[in-house]
Amino acid sequence: MSADVDQVLTHECPAVLCTEQVDPDMLLCPRHWYQVPKPLRRAVWIAWHRGAGAGTPAHRAAMTAAIAAVNRA
Ligand SMILES: [Zn+2]
Repeated sequence: MSADVDQVLTHECPAVLCTEQVDPDMLLCPRHWYQVPKPLRRAVWIAWHRGAGAGTPAHRAAMTAAIAAVNRA
């Protein structure tokens, strides 16, 4: 792992005990993303709306639900 400028463009996967660096347009690392039930993944994408919905209450709620689903798995 290199500590270069790419780090500001990524974030750590929010799943418990996961330290994967994730692209800013993705919520979770691919491994955890595919553990999220399909309806929740859809809800996140709809709320995200190609970035336009980032940070909105609907997006935050969808993200929270998706992360909770993964951490329950
Ligand atoms: Zn992860």
